[in-house]
Amino acid sequence: CGIVGYVGRSQASQRPLEVVLSGLGRLEYRGYDSAGVAVVCPDGLVTAKRAGKLTNLLDDLAEHPLTPGSAAIGHTRWATHGGPTDGNAHPHRVGGLAVIHNGIIENFATLKAELLADGAEFLSDTDTEVVAHLLARAYEGDLTEAMRAVVARLEGAFTLLAVHEDAPGRVVGARRNSPLVVGLGEGENFLGSDVAAFIASTKEALELGQDQIVTITADSVDVIGFDGEPATATAYTVDWDA
Ligand code: GLU
Repeated sequence: CGIVGYVGRSQASQRPLEVVLSGLGRLEYRGYDSAGVAVVCPDGLVTAKRAGKLTNLLDDLAEHPLTPGSAAIGHTRWATHGGPTDGNAHPHRVGGLAVIHNGIIENFATLKAELLADGAEFLSDTDTEVVAHLLARAYEGDLTEAMRAVVARLEGAFTLLAVHEDAPGRVVGARRNSPLVVGLGEGENFLGSDVAAFIASTKEALELGQDQIVTITADSVDVIGFDGEPATATAYTVDWDA
């Protein structure tokens, strides 16, 4: 339902988690049933997720703090496939990869059957988890390329964000029939399902077009189409106050 992503220059900072949690707080108005985060740390990927209000997740994080990192993604879920449980909350992980998703993967049942036949082990009842397995299988060192290969197989409406512990300085997003906005910072960049996600940090934004993939690092924003060709997103300045 709500999506936030962040990447900065430091390898081990609290800022990625702070940005993502405050962004999720600003997206609470949309309504949701679960919340979760993933942080890419020097030692690998760490995640936390809980059914219920954001405060449940915040309480967990206060008790079990996550390691500081370079990048983070955060999600508030409005369940469509699978009940509102801890296990169905996003992110969904496969090994060192984590993904969050807004929307519905219409052909997930076909993809899930194929993945099960191939030995994939599912930990949730969501449509989203098929994307995590497909990305993990497609990943050969380039997360953007893996995303491009996977979105070609998906039907429906989706905003997806993915991180991989082998690519600590990057967050990759993709969108079809569901919004995704980039926030441009100084030595840091942001992603959000809407600008409320990062408005406290920057008002300079790029709105992704239909069927586009974006890769953000601390110092770069690259946009391509689902066809792999370079693409341009629409730049604008948010004109309301945080
Ligand atoms: N379809 C996904 C799920 O049920 C994502 C729902 C959402 O947009 O929050 O987990």
